[in-house]
Amino acid sequence: MIIGLRCVICGTVYGPDQVEYVCPKHGNEGILDVIYDYDSLRETIDRDELGSDWSMWRYRPLLPIRQNAEVPPLRIGWTPVYQVERGLWIKDDGREPTASFKDRASAIAVVKARECGADVVTTASTGNAAAALAGIAASVGQRNVIFVPASAPRAKIAQLLVFGSTVFTVQGTYDDAFELCLQVAAEYGWYNRNTAYNPYMSEGKKTAAYEIAEQLGWNVPDAVVVSVGDGCIIGGLHKGFKDLVALGWTDRIPRLIGVQAAGSNYLAQAWANGEDVLTKPPIDATTVADSISAGLPRDRIKAMAAVIETEGAYVTVADDEILNAIPAMARASGVFGEPAGAAAYAGFIRARELGILGESDRVVVLNTGNGLKDVASAVRAAGMAGAEPYTIEPTLDAVKAVVDRLEIP
Ligand SMILES: *Cc1c(COP(=O)(O)O)cnc(C)c1O
Ligand SMILES: [Zn+2]
Repeated sequence: MIIGLRCVICGTVYGPDQVEYVCPKHGNEGILDVIYDYDSLRETIDRDELGSDWSMWRYRPLLPIRQNAEVPPLRIGWTPVYQVERGLWIKDDGREPTASFKDRASAIAVVKARECGADVVTTASTGNAAAALAGIAASVGQRNVIFVPASAPRAKIAQLLVFGSTVFTVQGTYDDAFELCLQVAAEYGWYNRNTAYNPYMSEGKKTAAYEIAEQLGWNVPDAVVVSVGDGCIIGGLHKGFKDLVALGWTDRIPRLIGVQAAGSNYLAQAWANGEDVLTKPPIDATTVADSISAGLPRDRIKAMAAVIETEGAYVTVADDEILNAIPAMARASGVFGEPAGAAAYAGFIRARELGILGESDRVVVLNTGNGLKDVASAVRAAGMAGAEPYTIEPTLDAVKAVVDRLEIP
């Protein structure tokens, strides 16, 4: 039940069928925000009657799809929330079907593409958005074409190939792949899933906010910590929490804490220095956390608003802190994240040290991607934590020598 699309730059509101992706007055920067009729939604839906579809589709009336649309068969969303200690929960989106948070957005893309009868869907991606599109498209037999930087981790490229996508590994950065994909989509008229270009991707991502609220008994946490690359996830979370207040389902919005890698900290810089993200030039981005490597975060307007309007913060973590956080989060919780997922945990620790989060705050850390997405980084991280296997001859004596030395009871 969409009533319009509002340009985040000029505020012009378009009818849902009037524009396809971005504000015509502002081109690629003119990202649109989807508007719903909250008055009528308040009358027709009830948070206690969401039914027993334990997936993101339980919030269907709050999503920008036809209410009778057929949705992909893969189970997306309703990922577990684990309490790790008093006041700390981890929501594990590494448990999505293609093992990252991006499934929530790509699911919407596939439904929208089918609504408009598209033959081909395309996206640029650091890897996970593409893997998500590839897997969900495969589940419904939808042809798709992918552009990723040639440096993307092998597991992510393997996913694309296994799912049968047409894959271009671009010799350049994600930013280069993104620009190229926009050109190609326009050239061939393919359905364009690109983050912060297609207005509906944030709408899929906002379902994580609904789930956090519902899984905590509609008692929203004080803060949600999430890693930030393009800024679409943090913008989506903000949208989701705002929706819930507009519906009267919750009474406040958590502070949103965005975590950036030190080598890819465009938004953290802009926030700390009060810079205007419409004029701030791109930076050179490099980090071990490939999923949050973005020289010019595409959803930077929504991402800044998410932190400023919720009185949250941006924190920056070095690559070593990110790698250390992989075993630290895994050992504290049993959740194994890829570098960009563990970055949120590193940011949580950092935010506590800085006093941005207090000891008594109720905090949800979002793990956005599974650790098996990037085995090379995981092995490095385990090595940094001093974890090595004991390579031995196949004898009991060889085991005993180690057991004795380690004083294992
Ligand atoms: C895409 C991604 C992010 C960052 O999301 P943005 O919307 O680009 O800020 C974080 N973690 C993982 C694992 C991702 O794939
Ligand atoms: Zn505009």
